[in-house]
This record gives sequence, C-alpha cells and structure tokens, in this order.
Amino acid sequence: MNAPSTATPMRDAPTPATPREARADGRPSARVAVGQGAEGTAAGARETAIELQGVSCYYGSFRAVRDVGLTVARREVTALIGPSGCGKSTLLRTLNRMNDLVPSFRMEGRIAFDGQDLYGPRIDPVEVRRRVGMVFQKPNPFPKSIYDNVAFGARINGYRGDMHGLVERSLRRAALWNEVKDKLGQSGLSLSGGQQQRLCIARAIATEPEVILMDEPASALDPRATLQIEELMRELSREYTIVVVTHNMQQAARASDRTVFMTMDEDRAGYVVEAGETAGIFTNPRHQLTEDYVSGRFG
Ligand code: ADP
Repeated sequence: MNAPSTATPMRDAPTPATPREARADGRPSARVAVGQGAEGTAAGARETAIELQGVSCYYGSFRAVRDVGLTVARREVTALIGPSGCGKSTLLRTLNRMNDLVPSFRMEGRIAFDGQDLYGPRIDPVEVRRRVGMVFQKPNPFPKSIYDNVAFGARINGYRGDMHGLVERSLRRAALWNEVKDKLGQSGLSLSGGQQQRLCIARAIATEPEVILMDEPASALDPRATLQIEELMRELSREYTIVVVTHNMQQAARASDRTVFMTMDEDRAGYVVEAGETAGIFTNPRHQLTEDYVSGRFG
C-alpha cells in the first residue's frame, strides 16, 4: 500500500439523541442533525464523519446556500433532496472542495471532516478529493481502457502496490467485475451507461476514499441500471460514507438511511428545512414544506 490513509481518529463524540421536535409549519431552524439518532434509532451507534456549521455558499454576491448545520454519519447513505436550484449540488461540492475550482465561489462557516477543518490552511484540497471521492450525473469514463480508468487515480496518487489486485477489488466493489473481467483492455466508453457509471464508481473507489459523493448518479440511466446503482449504494455504505444528491424521491426513500430536505427562499438562497431518518422524513415529516414536497404537492 502506497497510498496510506491520513484519516485522523474520531474526535467528535456522538451527541445524545434529542427528543423529536413537534411538527411546525413555521420557519425551520437552520441547524438540523442528521445521523444523531433523533428518530428513535440507537444514538451512539453512529459516528460523525462530516459536520457542517453555519455553512453559507456564495457565487459572487449571490448566496446559493444559507446557514446549513448538519452532521453526516459514517457508513450511511445520506440523501439530499429538494427542488431544482436549491443548492444541493453546491452543498455536496463543499464536502470535497470541488467548488474551489469556481473562481466566484466563496464559503462561510465550518466543515469538519473527521474533526478536522476541511478548509483549514494546512489542508491539501487534492488530498481532500482523494479521501472524498465524487461520482457525477453523467457517467464520464476517460477514453481509456476499463483497466486504465480504474487504475488512473491510484497511479496519479503514486500507488505502487498490487495494481491488478486494486483494479479487481475496485471493480468487484462496484459490482462490475463479472461483466468486464474478460475485456479489461476494451475502452470504458464501449460499456452501457449503467456499466459506465459503475466504472466511474470503481474509479472513485480505487483511490481508497472514505466518503463517496454522488450527484444524481442515476438520472441519466434506465430503470434497471438505476436500481443497480441504488443497490450498489446500499452495499457500499457498509464501508463508505455516501452522500447522494437526487431529485428522485423514490430513490432517496429506497436507498438512503438519512434524508436532508432543502428548499429555497424568495431570494433563491437554499437552506435545510429538515433532516432525519429517511422513513421519518417520508412518512411523518415535521414541517409542512417537507410534507408538500415529498407528497408531490410542490417541487
Ligand atoms: P441544485 O443542485 O439544488 O439544483 P445548485 O447547487 O446546482 O442547485 O445551484 C444552486 C444555485 O446556485 C442556483 O441558483 C444556480 O444557478 C447557482 N449556481 C450553481 N453553480 C453555479 C456557478 N458555477 N456559478 C454561478 N452560480 C451557480
């Protein structure tokens, strides 16, 4: 292994469960805990992977996301849902510093990953993106062989271990190995859309991340390939922390442990309305705005 994990020990002790709030139709609090057992699951069993405090995101003078406080639990699938333009992708991209690549972008607040300030002066954004991998909406394999697609990130990171083993392991974890093991030299672009997306997941896994971010990973896929990706998310959450943006509510309901519902104000600044265990969000939301959205009355 030549790409050692730089994971720091957990510093955040799990917060005790808070009693479930009474349902309220008024303006919700900006601080909502995800993954802290507020919905009757065993508090303390969850570990915090990522904690956001007072996070606001700006593109120039436009505030796209307002004052988000959240915790994301380790080895769970957390889904971000909400109407188009409410800042889900922007918020997702703050988790691996992808927004740094947008010149007009600015963030306020704090994001801690394993207790460390993700935006601290000594943090290397390239290392952040290795530890927090990303899969995009449209499958985007490189015009290279299946093998080289998977090996790519690991090579860049200077991996000098057993590359064949890493490629096989990553493809197996992405539930693609059996379909491609006899054609590893073929172009990644020769695969079907669903296979290409699993190849991109294998590519993300091969850099040995702790967190995988997925931005509408199945929206370009047919229903069968979509279900495969959802199953894969569930499977991967045994080992990885997954945060997924989806506009597909069935997908959030099927594939996630926790759901964060965002919407936006009249000034178009997105904010978190409520967050909690997925079953609770879909069957017994605390806020009218959430109920309207999950029941299809809005958005
Ligand atoms: P969602 O994922 O919920 O659809 P986004 O995070 O993509 O929302 O966008 C939130 C808001 O930020 C939108 O108003 C969008 O137009 C704006 N936005 C997103 N990316 C950029 C960018 N690179 N430059 C300027 N504005 C952006």
